[in-house]
Amino acid sequence: MKGNSIMKKAKKIVTMILVITMLAGLAACSSKTESKTENPETEKMSDTMKKIKKSGKIVVGTEASFPPLEFHKEIDGKDTITGFDIFVAEEIAKDLGVELEIKDMSFDGLLAALVAGNVDFVAAGMAATEERRQSVDFSIRYYDTLQTILARDDNKDEFPADSDMKGKLIGVQKGSTQSEIMSRMYPKAKTVEIAKNADIILQLQSGKIDGALLDDPIAQLYAIANPGLTATELTFKNDPEYDVGSSIAVSKEAPDVLESIDKTLQRIMDDGTYDKLLEKADSMLDADMIDMLVDE
Ligand code: GLN
Repeated sequence: MKGNSIMKKAKKIVTMILVITMLAGLAACSSKTESKTENPETEKMSDTMKKIKKSGKIVVGTEASFPPLEFHKEIDGKDTITGFDIFVAEEIAKDLGVELEIKDMSFDGLLAALVAGNVDFVAAGMAATEERRQSVDFSIRYYDTLQTILARDDNKDEFPADSDMKGKLIGVQKGSTQSEIMSRMYPKAKTVEIAKNADIILQLQSGKIDGALLDDPIAQLYAIANPGLTATELTFKNDPEYDVGSSIAVSKEAPDVLESIDKTLQRIMDDGTYDKLLEKADSMLDADMIDMLVDE
């Protein structure tokens, strides 16, 4: 009997607890519905996407001494950053229905700026390496190039196609894959890391370094722009295991921004815009721009 009444009491308590839990659950639900003022579309967005939509602009980070991908050019009397990556960035902004703002900074500071939220994406002919993937996400690959050693007219013959570059001082842009390519593929050379491509060129001209490793189109353009410099026979594919082309970098916290960028890249590749933009970038590399490269 006693046992029975204890059971009954226990049952009552269990029922009460259940009811309380259910009521609490309902209250939680309703308070959740009440505080839900944001529209469901916005709520799903990453903070970066919310900021882009709210401000009506998307900020791209780049290092504009990398023609034909990004470079300075005087347009209508104004110093302007232009190039293939910038045209692609404009397409990305257009598809999102916002304006594009460009921030020019040193190459080795780009990913930190992205992680810190100072830029929304990076378009800088950047290779999607495993190491960089630790801190950021990358779009589909959109650009490929060979690697070329740029040297002076007076020492270009020291860089035949099969050279191992033993003892040579080779300038590379700090934080670029060229630095890694040198140590993997040419361990007998000495790599000198320099922050800006323009300074690599100066050091090469003054004889401080023997050569520079650059993405091929950049080496070719600097050779045209600077009498006395030559793109050598030493031109090669990146280490196949490490050949990752160029991609756009986006914060890991903004998968929706990445998705939108991939869509734009796919669209321009499919509808022919990509080729037109590449031609447009090449056509901007006229005498003016070449003068600027010589001045730098
Ligand atoms: N492609 C090279 C890299 O990703 C160099 C890019 C650059 O100097 N802008 O590191």
